[in-house]
Amino acid sequence: MPQYPPEPFRIKSVEHVGNISRKERERALKAAGYNVFGLRSDQIFIDLLTDSGTGAMSDRQWAAMMRGDESYAGASSYYRLKEAIDKIFGFKFFVPTHQGRAAENILCSQLVTPGVYVPNNMHFDTTQGNILARGGRPENLVIDEAADPSNPHPFKGNMDIEKLEAFIARVGAENIPLGMITITNNAGGGQPVSLENMHQVSEVYHTHGIPFFIDACRFAENAYFIKMREKKYKRRSILEITQETFGLSDGATMSAKKDAIVNIGGFLAMNDEELFQGVSNELILREGFPTYGGLAGRDLDAIAVGLWEGMDEAYLEYRIGQTAYLAACLREVGIPIIEPPGGHAVYIDAGRMFPHIPKEQFPGQALAVELYLEGGIRGVELGSVMFSQVDPESGETRHPPLELVRLAIPRRVYTQAHLDTIADVVARVKKRGKKVRGYRFTYAPKLLRHFTARFEPV
Ligand SMILES: *Cc1c(COP(=O)(O)O)cnc(C)c1O
Repeated sequence: MPQYPPEPFRIKSVEHVGNISRKERERALKAAGYNVFGLRSDQIFIDLLTDSGTGAMSDRQWAAMMRGDESYAGASSYYRLKEAIDKIFGFKFFVPTHQGRAAENILCSQLVTPGVYVPNNMHFDTTQGNILARGGRPENLVIDEAADPSNPHPFKGNMDIEKLEAFIARVGAENIPLGMITITNNAGGGQPVSLENMHQVSEVYHTHGIPFFIDACRFAENAYFIKMREKKYKRRSILEITQETFGLSDGATMSAKKDAIVNIGGFLAMNDEELFQGVSNELILREGFPTYGGLAGRDLDAIAVGLWEGMDEAYLEYRIGQTAYLAACLREVGIPIIEPPGGHAVYIDAGRMFPHIPKEQFPGQALAVELYLEGGIRGVELGSVMFSQVDPESGETRHPPLELVRLAIPRRVYTQAHLDTIADVVARVKKRGKKVRGYRFTYAPKLLRHFTARFEPV
């Protein structure tokens, strides 16, 4: 039996969940256009759509919220958040934003112009969308091992340094206003990036005069993987690893809804003063004054506490252990998953689970639908629905390498029995085999289409 890590907390408050019948689930799904984003939460038993903003805040975070200072300018909440961000990340400037994509949008407003290129190990959907929306070209340069779901490489989120060098040589450093890396690599399976790799990435970007920004959403989980898997850092604290990581970069975008364990919030940090001035002006136009940035003072206090809680080693051991436990349970019942499991989620390889469904008919979409019908479980497709792109030059559709369904684990929310139930449901879906059909669009918007698209069974 796989080992379940005991929770380093006890439960003080609980939330009721619905568990409707299969007939009702069938009706709900049809009404939602077979898109699980269109379901109501009270139609769901176990919600693994995302780990974003779905975590349980601690008693200390709720207590901190009572201290929230709602002053328009110069609130003490802002200074408490600033102290945490200064100590942990060490950037010269930051602005709060209402979430991660707002930080991306504001950063892109200053740096991305039509025709420029932005390399990354792999862009997350909102980052890709924000770059495309300004006419930029996102480029993914993760190592080849990332596309092989059975390769046990300990840092499958790493950038391919040779590919990065070749890419810069091909498009020209002058056409790259910023270079990024995403830790952990959400779009590629929540896989970590090694500190060695980040040192190399930083050196390549800086040799070419390209500002280096980290998509920092899961920086603490990434640091824990570094501590566990990168020998050199075995005895270093999560804080020390984090400081070394961000010391390599020129700035970061952060969704606090991830490793800061809050329900809303984010920030954009940077060292360049001129950039900060441009960012502040754009922020005032779109989000709010630079000492609150679209959030309430109490939200800033919750983030300030959550950043430290997200870096607590006992918490991280439980957090990463929970993901490993679910992966082990799925493995036991023969489900193909991305190996090794990542930090915040287990990714089922729907392409391998349903080899009879072609990419054009979205095997991941089919699995997401089945999990809901079978057990009221909501996961999310990360495959051709979310990531296929029409190449601007050739007009051809480029499919992502893998057709995945992500089961994201909200922080401090579900118990061992929930995880056991999930593995049971997936096993039952697998037994249906070839009876599971593919899907086609009946409606699809141009950008970030997975959120609002509608489907019908083929
Ligand atoms: C969640 C996420 C974002 C966007 O953050 P939001 O708060 O959802 O806007 C960006 N990058 C990565 C890697 C993410 O996981």
